[in-house]
Amino acid sequence: MRPHAERRFGLRGDLPGVLAAPPGSPAAAAGVRTGDLLLAVGDASLSVGQLEGAATWEGLEANLRIIDAALARGPTQVSVERDGETLDALLRPQRACGYDVQVDPSDELNARADGRRLFISTALASFAATDDELALVLGHELAHHVLGHRPWNDAEGEARRANERVWRARGGGGGAEAQADRVGLYLSARAGYDPAVAAPFWRRFGASNWRVRFPQIGHASAGARAVALEAVQREIEAKRAAGGELLP
Ligand SMILES: [Zn+2]
Repeated sequence: MRPHAERRFGLRGDLPGVLAAPPGSPAAAAGVRTGDLLLAVGDASLSVGQLEGAATWEGLEANLRIIDAALARGPTQVSVERDGETLDALLRPQRACGYDVQVDPSDELNARADGRRLFISTALASFAATDDELALVLGHELAHHVLGHRPWNDAEGEARRANERVWRARGGGGGAEAQADRVGLYLSARAGYDPAVAAPFWRRFGASNWRVRFPQIGHASAGARAVALEAVQREIEAKRAAGGELLP
């Protein structure tokens, strides 16, 4: 898809491009604009990579690592290309979410987390009708990271598989997935999204996707998840009404 992305967004090779510089962001404050291509960060030039032949992810990833490492050290000079000219800007980084979100082109209704990134398929991103629903899905995946499920799963892989067989035999409730649903709804509520969308989302998802109407490996059925999430929503509303902190 790289040639399409290059045409659509004005990108070139492995050079990272700016697709958005929202008002108030460090990029906007530095005068960096949508459409700029990053050429250098600090003392390091970014590599444009191979312009012909099969594109790979590694070159862009190496550039992203250079940017992350430079910005982790504090304010950094960056060089960008805009309308054929090279301009310099001083970027003052702000602390933000440490996980990248990646959209996977796919017809499958799917989201996952690998310990470093959150992934959502284009089909599931499209199925989410509002930002609140998108936050519900991403909140669940983020909760897997926050709760450290990935290292636990890697270390206890066999134990987890055995647990999952038991959960399945009992109808699929509980376990890491139920925790991620619960903590994920808190994360999305804390970020300002509406937790009331959770139960209707899962019911709509179940109605349009027969597979999730039944318990899955580690997952309860869509209907059971909706009921459990309604209880979490009530809990969140009660804490809000009492003026308490939103901690799961
Ligand atoms: Zn999950």
